[in-house]
Amino acid sequence: MQNFKTIAALRAFQKSCKDKSETLALVPTMGALHDGHLSLVKLAQQKADHVIVSIFVNPTQFAPHEDFDAYPRVEDADAAKLAPLGIAGLFTPRVAEMYPEGFACNLSITSALTNCLCGAARPSHFDGVAIIVSKLLLQSRADIAVFGEKDWQQLQVIRRVNADLNIDCEIIGAPICRDGESGLALSSRNAYLSDAERKSAGQLNVILAAFAGDIRAGRDIDAAQSEAKDKISAAGFGQIDYLECRTAQSLERVTIFNPKQACRVFVAAKIGSARLIDNMAV
Ligand code: AMP
Repeated sequence: MQNFKTIAALRAFQKSCKDKSETLALVPTMGALHDGHLSLVKLAQQKADHVIVSIFVNPTQFAPHEDFDAYPRVEDADAAKLAPLGIAGLFTPRVAEMYPEGFACNLSITSALTNCLCGAARPSHFDGVAIIVSKLLLQSRADIAVFGEKDWQQLQVIRRVNADLNIDCEIIGAPICRDGESGLALSSRNAYLSDAERKSAGQLNVILAAFAGDIRAGRDIDAAQSEAKDKISAAGFGQIDYLECRTAQSLERVTIFNPKQACRVFVAAKIGSARLIDNMAV
Protein backbone atom coordinates (compact mmCIF):
# COMPACT_ATOMS: atom_id res chain seq x y z
CA MET A 1 0.00 0.00 0.00
CA GLN A 2 1.58 3.26 -1.13
CA ASN A 3 1.21 6.51 0.79
CA PHE A 4 0.82 9.45 -1.57
CA LYS A 5 1.50 12.77 0.13
CA THR A 6 1.36 15.05 -2.89
CA ILE A 7 -1.14 15.72 -5.64
CA ALA A 8 1.64 15.04 -8.18
CA ALA A 9 2.24 11.53 -6.79
CA LEU A 10 -1.50 10.81 -6.75
CA ARG A 11 -1.83 12.04 -10.34
CA ALA A 12 1.11 9.89 -11.46
CA PHE A 13 -0.63 6.84 -10.00
CA GLN A 14 -3.93 7.76 -11.69
CA LYS A 15 -2.10 8.15 -15.00
CA SER A 16 -0.55 4.68 -14.62
CA CYS A 17 -4.06 3.26 -14.10
CA LYS A 18 -5.40 5.12 -17.10
CA ASP A 19 -2.51 3.97 -19.31
CA LYS A 20 -3.51 0.38 -18.51
CA SER A 21 -7.23 1.15 -18.96
CA GLU A 22 -7.80 0.28 -15.29
CA THR A 23 -10.35 2.10 -13.17
CA LEU A 24 -9.71 4.02 -9.98
CA ALA A 25 -12.06 4.52 -7.03
CA LEU A 26 -11.57 7.13 -4.34
CA VAL A 27 -12.89 6.86 -0.78
CA PRO A 28 -12.57 10.28 0.87
CA THR A 29 -12.35 10.27 4.70
CA MET A 30 -11.14 12.37 7.59
CA GLY A 31 -9.44 9.35 9.18
CA ALA A 32 -10.02 7.75 12.60
CA LEU A 33 -11.27 4.87 10.51
CA HIS A 34 -13.91 2.43 11.73
CA ASP A 35 -15.86 -0.41 10.14
CA GLY A 36 -18.15 2.11 8.40
CA HIS A 37 -15.20 3.50 6.45
CA LEU A 38 -13.94 -0.02 5.74
CA SER A 39 -17.36 -0.97 4.31
CA LEU A 40 -16.98 1.92 1.84
CA VAL A 41 -13.55 0.61 0.86
CA LYS A 42 -14.93 -2.90 0.29
CA LEU A 43 -17.72 -1.52 -1.88
CA ALA A 44 -15.18 0.54 -3.85
CA GLN A 45 -13.10 -2.61 -4.40
CA GLN A 46 -16.10 -4.29 -6.02
CA LYS A 47 -16.55 -1.35 -8.38
CA ALA A 48 -13.03 -0.48 -9.54
CA ASP A 49 -9.63 -2.05 -10.24
CA HIS A 50 -7.78 0.15 -7.74
CA VAL A 51 -8.85 1.96 -4.58
CA ILE A 52 -7.29 4.99 -2.93
CA VAL A 53 -8.44 6.17 0.51
CA SER A 54 -7.82 9.83 1.26
CA ILE A 55 -7.34 10.94 4.85
CA PHE A 56 -7.59 14.69 5.34
CA VAL A 57 -9.17 16.59 8.21
CA ASN A 58 -10.48 19.49 6.17
CA PRO A 59 -10.24 22.80 8.06
CA THR A 60 -12.70 24.66 5.81
CA GLN A 61 -15.68 22.53 6.82
CA PHE A 62 -15.28 23.27 10.54
CA ALA A 63 -16.53 26.51 12.11
CA PRO A 64 -14.09 28.24 14.51
CA HIS A 65 -15.95 26.92 17.59
CA GLU A 66 -16.09 23.32 16.29
CA ASP A 67 -13.81 20.35 16.95
CA PHE A 68 -11.17 20.76 14.19
CA ASP A 69 -8.24 20.71 16.66
CA ALA A 70 -9.72 17.93 18.78
CA TYR A 71 -10.72 15.75 15.80
CA PRO A 72 -8.95 12.37 16.23
CA ARG A 73 -5.84 12.00 14.05
CA VAL A 74 -4.48 8.43 14.11
CA GLU A 75 -2.87 7.90 10.72
CA ASP A 76 -0.70 4.92 11.76
CA ALA A 77 -3.69 3.05 13.20
CA ASP A 78 -5.70 3.94 10.07
CA ALA A 79 -2.97 2.56 7.80
CA ALA A 80 -2.88 -0.65 9.89
CA LYS A 81 -6.65 -1.10 9.42
CA LEU A 82 -6.42 -0.60 5.68
CA ALA A 83 -3.32 -2.71 5.03
CA PRO A 84 -5.12 -6.13 5.14
CA LEU A 85 -7.69 -4.93 2.59
CA GLY A 86 -5.10 -4.74 -0.18
CA ILE A 87 -5.88 -1.28 -1.51
CA ALA A 88 -3.52 0.55 -3.85
CA GLY A 89 -2.79 3.42 -1.52
CA LEU A 90 -3.53 6.23 0.86
CA PHE A 91 -3.61 9.90 -0.02
CA THR A 92 -2.57 11.89 3.06
CA PRO A 93 -1.84 15.47 1.98
CA ARG A 94 -0.86 18.17 4.48
CA VAL A 95 -3.03 21.29 4.77
CA ALA A 96 -0.49 23.34 2.78
CA GLU A 97 -0.76 20.88 -0.13
CA MET A 98 -4.53 21.30 -0.28
CA TYR A 99 -4.70 25.00 0.62
CA PRO A 100 -1.37 26.53 -0.41
CA GLU A 101 -0.61 30.13 0.47
CA GLY A 102 -2.72 32.44 -1.64
CA PHE A 103 -5.57 29.96 -1.99
CA ALA A 104 -8.58 32.16 -2.71
CA CYS A 105 -11.28 29.97 -4.18
CA ASN A 106 -14.66 29.57 -2.58
CA LEU A 107 -17.46 27.23 -3.59
CA SER A 108 -20.82 28.36 -2.38
CA ILE A 109 -23.74 25.95 -2.52
CA THR A 110 -26.97 27.90 -2.41
CA SER A 111 -29.78 25.45 -2.69
CA ALA A 112 -32.68 23.96 -0.81
CA LEU A 113 -30.26 21.08 -0.22
CA THR A 114 -28.06 23.17 2.06
CA ASN A 115 -30.37 25.54 3.91
CA CYS A 116 -31.77 22.82 6.16
CA LEU A 117 -30.58 20.12 8.57
CA CYS A 118 -26.77 20.28 9.00
CA GLY A 119 -26.61 23.22 6.58
CA ALA A 120 -28.81 25.28 8.91
CA ALA A 121 -27.06 24.08 12.07
CA ARG A 122 -23.55 24.49 10.60
CA PRO A 123 -23.57 27.48 8.20
CA SER A 124 -20.76 27.28 5.59
CA HIS A 125 -20.07 23.61 6.48
CA PHE A 126 -21.22 22.36 3.08
CA ASP A 127 -19.22 25.04 1.24
CA GLY A 128 -16.14 23.53 2.90
CA VAL A 129 -17.28 20.01 2.01
CA ALA A 130 -17.96 21.06 -1.60
CA ILE A 131 -14.55 22.62 -2.14
CA ILE A 132 -12.59 19.76 -0.62
CA VAL A 133 -14.55 17.00 -2.34
CA SER A 134 -14.31 18.82 -5.70
CA LYS A 135 -10.57 19.16 -5.21
CA LEU A 136 -10.16 15.48 -4.27
CA LEU A 137 -12.21 14.32 -7.27
CA LEU A 138 -10.29 16.59 -9.64
CA GLN A 139 -6.91 15.74 -8.13
CA SER A 140 -7.47 11.99 -8.27
CA ARG A 141 -9.46 12.00 -11.52
CA ALA A 142 -11.15 8.96 -9.98
CA ASP A 143 -13.70 7.11 -12.09
CA ILE A 144 -15.75 6.35 -8.99
CA ALA A 145 -16.03 7.82 -5.49
CA VAL A 146 -17.84 6.20 -2.57
CA PHE A 147 -19.56 8.15 0.21
CA GLY A 148 -21.63 6.93 3.15
CA GLU A 149 -25.37 7.37 3.48
CA LYS A 150 -24.65 8.13 7.14
CA ASP A 151 -24.04 11.69 5.85
CA TRP A 152 -27.11 11.58 3.62
CA GLN A 153 -27.37 15.35 3.11
CA GLN A 154 -23.65 15.51 2.29
CA LEU A 155 -24.14 12.76 -0.30
CA GLN A 156 -26.89 14.78 -2.02
CA VAL A 157 -24.71 17.93 -1.96
CA ILE A 158 -21.78 16.01 -3.47
CA ARG A 159 -24.00 14.61 -6.24
CA ARG A 160 -25.12 18.20 -6.99
CA VAL A 161 -21.55 19.57 -7.07
CA ASN A 162 -20.30 16.67 -9.20
CA ALA A 163 -23.09 17.32 -11.73
CA ASP A 164 -22.90 21.13 -11.65
CA LEU A 165 -19.12 21.22 -12.18
CA ASN A 166 -19.17 18.38 -14.75
CA ILE A 167 -16.56 16.51 -12.73
CA ASP A 168 -17.73 13.30 -14.33
CA CYS A 169 -17.05 10.94 -11.45
CA GLU A 170 -19.58 8.21 -10.61
CA ILE A 171 -20.78 8.93 -7.07
CA ILE A 172 -21.84 5.83 -5.15
CA GLY A 173 -23.70 5.84 -1.81
CA ALA A 174 -22.94 3.10 0.73
CA PRO A 175 -25.41 1.95 3.42
CA ILE A 176 -24.96 3.07 7.03
CA CYS A 177 -22.79 0.73 9.08
CA ARG A 178 -24.08 0.35 12.67
CA ASP A 179 -22.87 -1.12 15.92
CA GLY A 180 -24.08 -4.74 15.95
CA GLU A 181 -25.60 -4.55 19.43
CA SER A 182 -26.99 -1.06 19.88
CA GLY A 183 -27.51 -0.04 16.27
CA LEU A 184 -25.59 3.20 16.93
CA ALA A 185 -24.33 4.55 13.60
CA LEU A 186 -20.54 4.19 13.61
CA SER A 187 -18.76 7.55 13.66
CA SER A 188 -15.27 8.83 14.36
CA ARG A 189 -16.93 11.18 16.86
CA ASN A 190 -18.16 8.18 18.93
CA ALA A 191 -14.58 8.23 20.28
CA TYR A 192 -15.61 11.28 22.32
CA LEU A 193 -18.27 9.27 24.22
CA SER A 194 -17.84 7.97 27.77
CA ASP A 195 -19.24 4.48 28.47
CA ALA A 196 -22.44 5.96 29.92
CA GLU A 197 -22.85 8.35 26.98
CA ARG A 198 -22.30 5.53 24.51
CA LYS A 199 -25.13 3.59 26.17
CA SER A 200 -27.46 6.58 25.86
CA ALA A 201 -26.26 7.24 22.30
CA GLY A 202 -27.39 3.74 21.35
CA GLN A 203 -30.99 4.85 21.92
CA LEU A 204 -30.87 7.51 19.20
CA ASN A 205 -31.37 5.07 16.31
CA VAL A 206 -34.12 3.26 18.21
CA ILE A 207 -36.04 6.51 18.77
CA LEU A 208 -35.45 7.53 15.15
CA ALA A 209 -36.77 4.17 13.91
CA ALA A 210 -39.88 4.57 16.08
CA PHE A 211 -40.39 8.09 14.64
CA ALA A 212 -40.12 6.66 11.10
CA GLY A 213 -42.58 3.90 12.09
CA ASP A 214 -45.08 6.44 13.43
CA ILE A 215 -44.93 8.40 10.17
CA ARG A 216 -45.36 5.23 8.13
CA ALA A 217 -48.37 4.34 10.25
CA GLY A 218 -49.98 7.67 9.33
CA ARG A 219 -49.55 9.45 12.69
CA ASP A 220 -49.52 13.24 12.76
CA ILE A 221 -45.87 14.10 12.00
CA ASP A 222 -45.68 17.11 14.37
CA ALA A 223 -47.04 15.06 17.27
CA ALA A 224 -44.71 12.13 16.54
CA GLN A 225 -41.78 14.54 16.24
CA SER A 226 -42.43 16.22 19.55
CA GLU A 227 -42.78 12.84 21.29
CA ALA A 228 -39.52 11.60 19.75
CA LYS A 229 -37.71 14.79 20.81
CA ASP A 230 -38.87 14.24 24.39
CA LYS A 231 -37.54 10.68 24.23
CA ILE A 232 -34.14 11.91 22.93
CA SER A 233 -33.89 14.39 25.81
CA ALA A 234 -34.93 11.72 28.31
CA ALA A 235 -32.19 9.44 26.91
CA GLY A 236 -29.60 12.00 28.08
CA PHE A 237 -29.01 14.11 24.98
CA GLY A 238 -28.59 17.88 25.29
CA GLN A 239 -29.17 20.15 22.33
CA ILE A 240 -31.22 18.63 19.49
CA ASP A 241 -30.23 20.48 16.30
CA TYR A 242 -32.99 18.83 14.31
CA LEU A 243 -35.34 15.87 14.12
CA GLU A 244 -37.25 16.00 10.87
CA CYS A 245 -38.87 14.11 8.04
CA ARG A 246 -37.78 15.21 4.56
CA THR A 247 -37.97 13.95 0.98
CA ALA A 248 -35.03 11.69 0.20
CA GLN A 249 -33.46 13.51 -2.76
CA SER A 250 -34.56 17.15 -2.66
CA LEU A 251 -34.73 17.30 1.16
CA GLU A 252 -38.03 19.16 1.23
CA ARG A 253 -39.91 19.15 4.52
CA VAL A 254 -42.62 16.47 4.71
CA THR A 255 -45.67 17.50 6.68
CA ILE A 256 -48.07 14.84 5.41
CA PHE A 257 -46.75 11.38 4.61
CA ASN A 258 -47.27 10.14 1.07
CA PRO A 259 -46.25 6.46 0.68
CA LYS A 260 -45.47 7.12 -3.01
CA GLN A 261 -42.82 9.72 -2.14
CA ALA A 262 -39.49 8.41 -0.78
CA CYS A 263 -38.72 10.22 2.44
CA ARG A 264 -36.33 9.89 5.36
CA VAL A 265 -36.06 10.95 8.97
CA PHE A 266 -32.98 12.87 10.08
CA VAL A 267 -31.58 13.66 13.50
CA ALA A 268 -28.63 15.59 14.93
CA ALA A 269 -28.20 15.86 18.69
CA LYS A 270 -25.43 16.45 21.17
CA ILE A 271 -24.43 14.12 23.94
CA GLY A 272 -21.50 15.23 26.06
CA SER A 273 -19.09 16.85 23.62
CA ALA A 274 -20.16 14.68 20.66
CA ARG A 275 -22.64 15.84 18.05
CA LEU A 276 -24.19 12.71 16.54
CA ILE A 277 -26.19 12.46 13.33
CA ASP A 278 -28.30 9.64 11.93
CA ASN A 279 -30.96 9.11 9.27
CA MET A 280 -33.12 6.34 7.89
CA ALA A 281 -35.79 5.67 5.31
CA VAL A 282 -39.43 5.95 6.34
P1 AMP B 1 -15.70 10.99 7.72
O1 AMP B 1 -14.34 10.42 7.93
O2 AMP B 1 -16.54 11.02 8.94
O3 AMP B 1 -15.66 12.30 6.98
O4 AMP B 1 -16.43 9.97 6.75
C1 AMP B 1 -15.86 9.58 5.54
C2 AMP B 1 -16.89 8.82 4.75
O5 AMP B 1 -17.30 7.69 5.50
C3 AMP B 1 -18.15 9.65 4.46
O6 AMP B 1 -18.58 9.35 3.14
C4 AMP B 1 -19.12 9.13 5.48
O7 AMP B 1 -20.47 9.26 5.08
C5 AMP B 1 -18.71 7.68 5.58
N1 AMP B 1 -19.15 7.10 6.84
C6 AMP B 1 -18.87 7.54 8.09
N2 AMP B 1 -19.49 6.77 9.01
C7 AMP B 1 -20.18 5.82 8.32
C8 AMP B 1 -21.02 4.73 8.69
N3 AMP B 1 -21.30 4.45 9.95
N4 AMP B 1 -21.54 3.97 7.71
C9 AMP B 1 -21.27 4.24 6.40
N5 AMP B 1 -20.49 5.25 5.99
C10 AMP B 1 -19.94 6.03 6.93
